[in-house]
Amino acid sequence: MKNYIYMDNSATTPVKKEVLDEMLPYFSEKYGNPSSIYSLGGKSKNAVENARDKVAKVLGAKPNEIFFTAGGSESDNWAIKGIAYANKDKGNHIITTKIEHHGILHTCQYLERQGFKVTYLDVDKYGMVDLDELRESITDETILITIMFANNEIGTIQPIKEIGQIAKEKNIYFHTDAVQAIGHVKIDVDDLNIDLLSLSAHKFYGPKGIGALYIRQGVKIHSLIEGGAQERNRRAGTENVPGIVGLGKAIELAYENIDEHNEKLIKLRERLIKKVFENISHVRLNGHPEKRLPGNVSFCFEFIEGESLLLSLDMEGIAGSSGSACTSGSLDPSHVLLAIGLPHEIAHGSLRLSLGDFNTEEEVDYVVEKLVEIVQRLREMSPLYEKVKGEK
Ligand SMILES: *Cc1c(COP(=O)(O)O)cnc(C)c1O
Repeated sequence: MKNYIYMDNSATTPVKKEVLDEMLPYFSEKYGNPSSIYSLGGKSKNAVENARDKVAKVLGAKPNEIFFTAGGSESDNWAIKGIAYANKDKGNHIITTKIEHHGILHTCQYLERQGFKVTYLDVDKYGMVDLDELRESITDETILITIMFANNEIGTIQPIKEIGQIAKEKNIYFHTDAVQAIGHVKIDVDDLNIDLLSLSAHKFYGPKGIGALYIRQGVKIHSLIEGGAQERNRRAGTENVPGIVGLGKAIELAYENIDEHNEKLIKLRERLIKKVFENISHVRLNGHPEKRLPGNVSFCFEFIEGESLLLSLDMEGIAGSSGSACTSGSLDPSHVLLAIGLPHEIAHGSLRLSLGDFNTEEEVDYVVEKLVEIVQRLREMSPLYEKVKGEK
């Protein structure tokens, strides 16, 4: 069998060798607890602070504004619940969008059950938020705007700076889930007026189960976990030292050659899109044509079930996704594709191919070749497609 072709880099990425090499000593040689006062503990403490410096540098933040968490979902939960509970006296209204990751959406729904009010903004056909609509949705009760930096399914990148400016003018906290943007977009939290930002290492060639929340100094927020004094009393529990070291190394690598990396991905992306449009009819590209993540390709193939497509691709050794990893397994079409206005039957035929560092032009060509065969075969089983073909 041909080598496995992995094009699901938005779901997760492999840990790079350089990242793993940095992590390994912290499992069984340098295993001290960072809170211990002897030198073995000190080594771990230094490693944690060194990683914190690296994250802060990438974001244009101060190290004491970076808090390590167990990943993107935890950071999202903390940002939203932490702000909501700490600012109840100011108001009970939160603004977000209909296309957020479930880490945001389900947290907002949870808060609605606690009596908070949430506005879920619509997006246009490209997945873009309307800034006027955002302005109009703000009330005297609004305490938080949380809008994702880049969408995990369709890749659309939001006008974050403008959103941050609106929030700042109105004195409202602005959180962004930047889990997909890190490693692809240069971010300066001051320039973009971001107050809180979530990131997760396994989306940029670091380990799973480790992430961070940037919290601007002075932001009023509740602690996430009560207990020891770790993470400046905000998130108790002995630090995941190897994970934190891996996160630090991964984010450093991701920004070391970010331009080159993005250029490569955009080239692969455009090659893939062009070839698919040349060879397959009744297909649409989801998301914004330009303002999208370099590695994101999201299609809808008419007259096809996305699940069947994925299974057929898997049999050819190709890994893709029908949208988000969290919704596969369920029969509902993706909330993101419905929000950009696609009808159910078209949203069902979605395929996301997310490219990464290790993909090649040869892989792209091979995937298109297989896609053409599979789409043709599946469509031949569709009575609807037969009808459309007959009408031509
Ligand atoms: C993957 C992802 C998350 C969740 O991150 P985990 O580390 O897996 O919890 C949150 N938001 C977005 C946009 C993501 O892509």
